[in-house]
Amino acid sequence: MMLLYEGKAKRVFKTEDPEVLRIEYKDEVTAGNGAKHDFMEGKGRLNNLISSDIFKYLRNNGVDSHFIERISETEQTVKPVHIIPLEVVVRNVAAGSIVKRLGFENGREFTPPLVELYYKEDALNDPILTDDHVLRLGIATEEEMEALKEAAIKVNAALIRMMNLMGMKLVDFKIEFGKDNKGNILLADEISPDTCRIWDLETNENFDKDVYRNGTGSLIDTYTKFYEKMEAVK
Ligand code: UDP
Repeated sequence: MMLLYEGKAKRVFKTEDPEVLRIEYKDEVTAGNGAKHDFMEGKGRLNNLISSDIFKYLRNNGVDSHFIERISETEQTVKPVHIIPLEVVVRNVAAGSIVKRLGFENGREFTPPLVELYYKEDALNDPILTDDHVLRLGIATEEEMEALKEAAIKVNAALIRMMNLMGMKLVDFKIEFGKDNKGNILLADEISPDTCRIWDLETNENFDKDVYRNGTGSLIDTYTKFYEKMEAVK
């Protein structure tokens, strides 16, 4: 079937049904806007298993997404949407870029959670945006921006509950949204340890892509452990 799009971690294919796309997760890992790049056997499978189960969990908790179903170890089907070029980041705890850029102490809690919008544009290095920037760039309307932020807070609350059961803390995450042909906004892309920061509740040990970004551990072992813990609380 026809390849529609190939990104850093996934391939998107058309199917016979115009209302269904097939996504294949690749065995590749990148960090720093592609500055660090490696082939890693088994990574596509883990991301597909985890992301599928997270979208299913969210669906059961009242948050719909583009996800339809997992069809193999490395593939899932989704509804076609036009991705809105925003990365919506929610932070419960300070880590990563906000520590480097604004000097918040690593590990400091944000209550209520902090929501940020970034421009999904590799050529510009995904800069952070103010609401006015989003409006002037014509990326989303005021109402749409509100809807995205509200959905992000809902996703956050549901994921916090799941990760607490797993003995883990959701530090931050990034999500993306798309619009279907009727203009409905749907959660899209993926949710996995590639797109979240997750710390052990007791030890603060990392269960996410930071082990690869910082070279502190095996990504495959880390994601396998995360998946096993997720399965155990299902
Ligand atoms: N994130 C992501 N894709 C990006 C940028 C960030 O999935 O292109 C996720 C990242 O994994 C983390 C959260 O969004 O869970 C916040 O990332 P941050 O702004 O701290 O940037 P980073 O330190 O990852 O460069």
